[in-house]
Amino acid sequence: MSQSAMQEITCPKCGKKHPFTVWDSINTMEHPEMKEKVRNDEAFRYRCPDCGATSLLNYNFLYHQQEDKILIFVDADGSSPKGMEEILSRRGNAFDSYLKRIVLSYNEFKEKLLILDAGLDDRIVEIIKSSIWDNVDEKYKDKHIDEIYFATNEDGEHGFLFRKEGKMIASMEFDMSLYNAIKEAAQARIDVLSRGDLIINREWAKNIVTRMG
Ligand SMILES: [Zn+2]
Repeated sequence: MSQSAMQEITCPKCGKKHPFTVWDSINTMEHPEMKEKVRNDEAFRYRCPDCGATSLLNYNFLYHQQEDKILIFVDADGSSPKGMEEILSRRGNAFDSYLKRIVLSYNEFKEKLLILDAGLDDRIVEIIKSSIWDNVDEKYKDKHIDEIYFATNEDGEHGFLFRKEGKMIASMEFDMSLYNAIKEAAQARIDVLSRGDLIINREWAKNIVTRMG
C-alpha cells in the first residue's frame, strides 16, 4: 500500500508556505509514475510556486517495487536505521522472498536502484567497489576522492564515478568479467554469510571479505 500526506513546506528562499506530497511508503504497482520520480528526484524536490526556488527535501520512506519483490527503506539522513532493521528482519510474512535493503542516503538509494535495474547483485558490486576504494586509498590519496558510485550512462554502459565534493573527477568502466568471476566463486558463500543483512555498503563489503578469509 502506498501512503502519502500533504505537508506545508516553507520555501527556503522567499519564506512562503506551500503544500507538497511527502510519501511514507511508495508502491510502484499502485503508483507506477513514482518509479521514475524517485529515479529523477522529482519525489523529493520541492519547487516553490512563488519564486521558483528548488530544494531537496530529506525524508524517510519505504520503497516497495512489488512487481520485482524489492523493498528498500530509505533512511534519508542515515540517522535511524535500527527500528526499521528490526521490522524488515521479521520473517513469516508476505515479504519473505523479497530483496530487502536499508540505505542511508538518497545517493545510496539511487545507486542501489541503478544496480538492481542493471540486474546485478548489489553485494558483489559493493565488494568490487570496496577493492577500488582500497586502491584509491593506497595510490590516489592526493585526489581527495570522497565518493565512488556505480552508474549507468545513456548507452546503458555501467561504470563507477569518482567524486570529490560532489564533482565528478574520474570514471572507470565496470569490469563485467570480474563481476562474473566473483559471482561464480563466492555468491553461494555470500548467501550463507550475509543472509538477512539489510545494509549493503562499503562497511558491509569490508566485513564480508574478512569473514570469507
Ligand atoms: Zn519561494
